[in-house]
Amino acid sequence: MKKLWEYISGETKIALTMKQVVTYLTLVMACIHILLFILFMCFDVHMMAAVNVVSIVVYINCFIWLHFGKSSYVVFNLCYAEVIIHAMLATFAVGSSCGFLLYMVCMIPIAYYAAYSFRSSSHFINPVVYIFTTIIAFVISKYASWAFEPMYDIGNSFVQTSIYIVNYLLVVVAIVVFMSTFLIQIKTLEEIMIKKNERLEILSTHDVLTGLANRRSINQCYKNISRQQQDYAIILGDIDDFKHINDTYGHTCGDNVLKSVANVFKTSVRDCDIVCRWGGEEILVMLPDCGKDTAVQIAEDIIEEIRKLVIISQEGDEIKVTMTLGTASSDEGKDIKDIIKEADNRLYYGKGHGKNCVVDYKK
Ligand code: GH3
Ligand code: MG
Ligand code: MG
Repeated sequence: MKKLWEYISGETKIALTMKQVVTYLTLVMACIHILLFILFMCFDVHMMAAVNVVSIVVYINCFIWLHFGKSSYVVFNLCYAEVIIHAMLATFAVGSSCGFLLYMVCMIPIAYYAAYSFRSSSHFINPVVYIFTTIIAFVISKYASWAFEPMYDIGNSFVQTSIYIVNYLLVVVAIVVFMSTFLIQIKTLEEIMIKKNERLEILSTHDVLTGLANRRSINQCYKNISRQQQDYAIILGDIDDFKHINDTYGHTCGDNVLKSVANVFKTSVRDCDIVCRWGGEEILVMLPDCGKDTAVQIAEDIIEEIRKLVIISQEGDEIKVTMTLGTASSDEGKDIKDIIKEADNRLYYGKGHGKNCVVDYKK
């Protein structure tokens, strides 16, 4: 019961394929026709009872065809034609007051649903074609029921009203099933799109290998800091003798070293700091609202953690890593480019003076 309620209100997570939808359609239609068969038998409308038997056979065949790979588009059109012809015949047989023409109305939203679902198919039919066919069939049936007496007299107006209500309810069921399916499919597509966009957003702002932010993110972070007129500091680091690691242990091992170093950076800074892969094995940290001495302390902590790293190569060798870092802060230049340049100069000063050190404003 809960599942049914979730389905009707479009809350369920089940996303049906068009083949499944058409399969369920054939089953629902076969059941509706069994009900109508019983109804017509009760009122001795034998012609329509026979028509219903034909319809039931058609739907069972459609169900089997679908199972054996017949196109759901062909089966959908067969169902559509059956409903229109059946509604016309029933109206000729018992008159329009029993409400069989209502089935034609319910085919219009269903035609749009089909147009949406089969939009990428090469046999796509414009929904206007379904609508015109339905209108023509409706007008012919309505005038025919006005011009000619019904073939069968099925009783007083109470009976006719009751049949009308049954037909109305069945039409409501058909519309609810289709609209819920439509709603669920649109919601599912929307969720997939949102997830894809989130992934694309991460891919466009992050480096795939290390998971660190990329240069674009630094620009965004800088814009936010400038807007709030905050002080900030920069730490720029470059792994020492990384070429040697690549050459000795291979590129894959070099990648692992890079990932481990990136992790040290990520775990050594605050949540508000941005760690970015600046170049090949260069890492830049943007520290908003951070004084120059705090930045030096953070850089010292990072370098210490990197010295402790031990990476095991495929051959089982222990690889030790060191890094040279340069720091700079916002009071040392006009804009971010100047500050990064200052940190870069210090980094290269460190490279020329023994590496494995932090170079700050005091040097
Ligand atoms: P220095 O101490 O002076 O920095 O020496 P170095 O050998 O580290 O020299 P440099 O910084 O110029 O070398 C960078 C090397 O990093 C060159 C390049 O092949 C390697 N590299 C860049 N990106 C990657 C990567 O994504 N994976 C791996 N494995 N290596 C990379
Ligand atoms: Mg290097
Ligand atoms: Mg380098």
